[in-house]
Amino acid sequence: MQKFQPTRIERSSTGLEIQWKDSHHSELPYRILRQKCPCARCDATRSGKDLFHILPSDDFFENLHLVDIQRVGRYAVRLIWNDGHRTGIYTFEFLRELSENTPET
Ligand SMILES: [Zn+2]
Repeated sequence: MQKFQPTRIERSSTGLEIQWKDSHHSELPYRILRQKCPCARCDATRSGKDLFHILPSDDFFENLHLVDIQRVGRYAVRLIWNDGHRTGIYTFEFLRELSENTPET
């Protein structure tokens, strides 16, 4: 589906910019991307199953940015964060839905 196909993905100073094939444009702040990280560990932290994980502070998010974006097959990207976190694989469908559910800032 055209809606879930990006034509361009770029890092800005504050977030990820995505241009979609259906001409929709998304700007996803790093804070939101990281809070919604779909990996198993972040999922466990959000649901409270990971008892020993401390939720990150505001300072953490202020200094957070991406060091790399790696393509995963034809349907997703892996986001590499500056704190070393790299297990989150974000499907295009997930990114598009995230952008449509994120209020404009
Ligand atoms: Zn994660």
